[in-house]
Amino acid sequence: MEYVKGRPFFCFNKTLIKSYPYLKKDIECDVLIIGGGIDGAIANFYLAQNHDVVLVDKGRFGYLCTSCATALLEYQLDAFANDLSTEMTNNDLTDVYNMGLYAINKIESFIKKYGNKCYFNKRPTLIFTNSILDENKIEQEYNFRKQNGFNSKIITPNNNPFSFELKKGLYCEDGEAELDPYLFTKQLIENAKNQKRIYENTEITKLVNTKDGVIAISHYSQQIKCKKVVLATGFNWELINKHNLCERTITYSIVTKPIKNFSWYNNTLLQDLNSPYHYLRLLPDNRIIIGGEDTKFNEKGIKEKVALKKYDKLYDYLLELFPSLQNKAEIDYSFCGSFGSTTNNLGLMEETENKNILYFISCGANGIINAMYAVEILDGILNNRKNKLENLFSPKRIL
Ligand SMILES: Cc1cc2nc3c(=O)[nH]c(=O)nc-3n(C[C@H](O)[C@H](O)[C@H](O)COP(=O)(O)OP(=O)(O)OC[C@H]3O[C@@H](n4cnc5c(N)ncnc54)[C@H](O)[C@@H]3O)c2cc1C
Repeated sequence: MEYVKGRPFFCFNKTLIKSYPYLKKDIECDVLIIGGGIDGAIANFYLAQNHDVVLVDKGRFGYLCTSCATALLEYQLDAFANDLSTEMTNNDLTDVYNMGLYAINKIESFIKKYGNKCYFNKRPTLIFTNSILDENKIEQEYNFRKQNGFNSKIITPNNNPFSFELKKGLYCEDGEAELDPYLFTKQLIENAKNQKRIYENTEITKLVNTKDGVIAISHYSQQIKCKKVVLATGFNWELINKHNLCERTITYSIVTKPIKNFSWYNNTLLQDLNSPYHYLRLLPDNRIIIGGEDTKFNEKGIKEKVALKKYDKLYDYLLELFPSLQNKAEIDYSFCGSFGSTTNNLGLMEETENKNILYFISCGANGIINAMYAVEILDGILNNRKNKLENLFSPKRIL
């Protein structure tokens, strides 16, 4: 089913990832990763360091959800800690926030080693509201962070350094970041150890369980015999499961043309608490990417008419926030994609009902961070090592 529509900015305006061949013969490996979006690229890069790994994608790498991501890299989850307290203990929540910080540092270490070719930058974040009803939520989140050692500060109209009005905001100076998700995917794939084991245009249409593993069969009938399969297919989990694994939402984005002499305080990553909400950031060539206006995803897929209205709404919101952009900001790209949510906001990244098939499906608005950490859960499973957070990511909590 189609879950991306429009012209995702990140893959449309870039040099392409070098192309890889399609699979022409039967092969064997220890681990087969199906799907070469950012999740599959992360799994491939890290697992190929110690295992015999093959990566396949049915199309081109990084073209679907990956290129839709606004790529705000944040350590908090979609919901505030207080809203998640029925799902996770205080210890779980602090572990998960620390996991986010750890994952961002891990990306930074990768960049230090392989060069910053994906515009990775550390940035502050601001989550803000203009509604009296939501002020309390921001206070509670501030208190949670303070009590558990995470830095943040409250912004009010009296100390607001931004040009737009807000009633209350939570500003976090350190620890969060941004990058270009397509270029990061490209870097991960092109620096992976298993260059001769990477295939594009190779769709897996069937998985057959065997006594000691799985045989994956491609659209053109080639067979890949492996011990474990990692399913990094985004929302195409139908290969093994016909059930809906998470609640799905469509989120809409527009990207402006570059705007001369325009920026905001510290190039902060911005998010409001409106319903529907909005999130935005500045891109390296001074474009603005703004997303949100989410709607429910249903089996009928993404409707063009609805999407066009949502792009207009995002543009109106941008002008409301920054009236000086009137006659200056022009929409260059518009696109939308679907993402999944689970009740604890974390992905499905562990064994399925079948021990030889591992899900690697990131969920929520900071899926990239989830994946960066959860590849260590996969590595643990392959090496019989338990990971402290694996139960929080386990599909068993849903199935
Ligand atoms: C508009 C939007 C904004 C977002 N913003 C953020 C953000 O700010 N920060 C953040 O962290 N996350 C964000 N996300 C979420 C993020 O985009 C996802 O977590 C991430 O892209 C998921 O990557 P993926 O590799 O799982 O999926 P995809 O990029 O969709 O990749 C799946 C791949 O699997 C391949 N595939 C599928 N089926 C098969 C098959 N049978 N055989 C072979 N290959 C197959 C597909 O061709 C595809 O390339 C956002 C998502 C959207 C839609």
